[in-house]
Amino acid sequence: MNIIQVASEAVPFSKTGGLADVVGALSKHLNKHKHNITLFLPLYKQTKESIGDLISAATEIKVPIGSASGGQNHLGLLWQSKIPGTTVKVFFIQHDEFFNRDNLYSTPAGDYPDNAERFIFFCRGVLESILALKLKPDIIHCHDWQTGLIPVYLKTLYRSKKDRPAAKSFFTVHNLGYQGLFNQSVMPLTGLDWSLYNWHQMEFCGKVNLLKGGLIFADTITTVSARYAQEIQTPEFGHGLHGVMQERASDLHGIINGIDYAEWNPQTDPFIPEHYQSSRLAGKIKCKKLLQENQHLPVKPNVPLLGIVSRLAQQKGVDLLLDIFDKIMEMDLQLVLLGTGEEKYHTALQEMAQKYPDKVGLNITFDNRLAHLITAGADMLLLPSRYEPCGLNQLYALKYGTVPIVRETGGLADTIINFSDEGIKNKKSTGFSFKNYSAKEFLESVKQACAVYRNRTTWQNLMKIGMEQDWSWDRSTTEYLKLYQKLLNK
Ligand code: ADP
Repeated sequence: MNIIQVASEAVPFSKTGGLADVVGALSKHLNKHKHNITLFLPLYKQTKESIGDLISAATEIKVPIGSASGGQNHLGLLWQSKIPGTTVKVFFIQHDEFFNRDNLYSTPAGDYPDNAERFIFFCRGVLESILALKLKPDIIHCHDWQTGLIPVYLKTLYRSKKDRPAAKSFFTVHNLGYQGLFNQSVMPLTGLDWSLYNWHQMEFCGKVNLLKGGLIFADTITTVSARYAQEIQTPEFGHGLHGVMQERASDLHGIINGIDYAEWNPQTDPFIPEHYQSSRLAGKIKCKKLLQENQHLPVKPNVPLLGIVSRLAQQKGVDLLLDIFDKIMEMDLQLVLLGTGEEKYHTALQEMAQKYPDKVGLNITFDNRLAHLITAGADMLLLPSRYEPCGLNQLYALKYGTVPIVRETGGLADTIINFSDEGIKNKKSTGFSFKNYSAKEFLESVKQACAVYRNRTTWQNLMKIGMEQDWSWDRSTTEYLKLYQKLLNK
């Protein structure tokens, strides 16, 4: 199959979160199955700084923004590369005015005000590039709101174009909470007819909703866990789009993300000081010591070290953590936190870190190396999410013998089995989970985990059950391939 992946970020070229991990790894694994994979990404400042071997694709594209027939033409330049170690072709669309910025979508003060123009440009830019490069994709697989217009364009503006891509569109929602909602003045910039601005298609509460466009027009929709596929059809998790999800339920599938063990494996991880595996855990003890030193915490091998690696957003349960902060600080434990996000959380967490300097290591930054060190050095990883489409950190944590404490929602519910003596005996339990979004339940789980931690044999059994699980991409890739094939046979 000729498959084009389109996303606003992908490892190893650009990243703000799990989307990048998934798009990078999925492309790589599809390629292993001998399919032709081409990936389109914006050329960010971050990308230019991280790779040196860009080749000019000698192709310039004209992207009209403003009307179907023309509007203002923005010029884009195509650059080419490969995902290292694969034959996945990567095309970057350069338009410095839009993408040569310090961040991908926002600063701590908020979203970039021209995000609509930036990603309208990107979506049309991808389609113009496909035409210019004479690519013949069978499937265009789009990810999240930034690419939501592509399925719309394929069935409208580009339907009648000469040499138009005959591809089917496949759309994955990684997080329904981010919809690309913009003022209706954005509608003319898309070049689409105003008739699409209605509540069955692209309108949502008086605004243009780019994600909704993708969900309505795509041929197949997936999301990143079976539980989340169910949840988003309910008002509690649907962010106002549960009706759309219900309407499209027969084309909606949940495929759990895999993780890339080439990047996340304590036996080979270049970012951690000592390697280890389930049958040889000594290296983990050294990682813990180094993490404590690195965070200027007292080196105490037997005190539970809790880790958090997270965007600091409401979704991730930061409020719940703040609610129980003083209470958990009464316990004999340490906490290392790595994250960036909303200013209010930065301030609140900084106050807590100042209050408990001997117990808390706070890192308000984005730092991949430290993310690996925390995942290896901590004893437990906290994920008290309000909702979680899939979540990757709990899967990384399992591999590193770091026991996840999670709220039972979305992908966290699908991947972590709550501790019980029976579960240890049957080799099923992998962590601690609590049902409701409640500070009390979260605190109970932390207390229970710390109690079990004191029983070294049980704790090591729990670690090993998680470490020996297989969450590689192989299974998920096969599921994507089945859906691609089904779509092509339709
Ligand atoms: P989301 O995409 O919702 O943020 P996921 O769990 O799917 O959550 O993926 C988060 C990814 O981003 C993981 O690879 C995690 O290690 C990484 N990450 C999140 N915050 C940071 C940070 N501050 N520094 C380094 N990596 C981070």
